[in-house]
Amino acid sequence: MGRATAALLLCALQLVLVVPTSSVAAPAAAVPAPPQDKPNPADVFQYPLPTWQPHCLGFGSEWRYCNGTPLRACASGVWLHTGTDVVAAVGQAVKAAGDGVIVGYMIDPTFRGGVLIRHQTSAGVVIMQYWHLWLRSEFAVGSHVRRGQAFADIADMGDKTHFHFAVFNGDLESHTWNGALPPGACSGFPAFPYRFIDPTAFIEAHLPPVRLAHGTLFG
Ligand SMILES: [Zn+2]
Repeated sequence: MGRATAALLLCALQLVLVVPTSSVAAPAAAVPAPPQDKPNPADVFQYPLPTWQPHCLGFGSEWRYCNGTPLRACASGVWLHTGTDVVAAVGQAVKAAGDGVIVGYMIDPTFRGGVLIRHQTSAGVVIMQYWHLWLRSEFAVGSHVRRGQAFADIADMGDKTHFHFAVFNGDLESHTWNGALPPGACSGFPAFPYRFIDPTAFIEAHLPPVRLAHGTLFG
């Protein structure tokens, strides 16, 4: 081996030795997530029940009993359900979806108790409609509720027992109580959906942010 060859070989060895330490970039430091503002508590909602399993009718379903019998129809067709029905057990606690004020309580011989809760969000007022339950004795119209606070219990409707939940995108007025609206205007009622919005989609879009293990907010 000549001196030149030996020098080249040494050079190559140095390169091999040097490459791993000098030319490989150090792992990039984790870029901290930009600080995310905590959402306004007035805009945070949760499901009123711990499980959200659909019952017979969804938002916009024809308003019928599970056996298919329509509850109300007019020339333009069967009225459409303004809320969503959810599987529930008799006596199950129902929690407020958000911070708000009870603005209505009605008892119907067929549908049992109905409650309206008014929520002032940063995007405006929404009123949530809860049906087929009994308001707990410590609550009345005018009571304030906190998100997650149990304020009512599912009523016994025999084999028709379920929970009805609707979201009215507006303030209290004559149609806020409607459980269904006609597909076209009839009987002086506004057409479905009027100011009702998909209640499950609303809750999904307003769930509390998920706090990950490393402390950043997601959601
Ligand atoms: Zn319903």
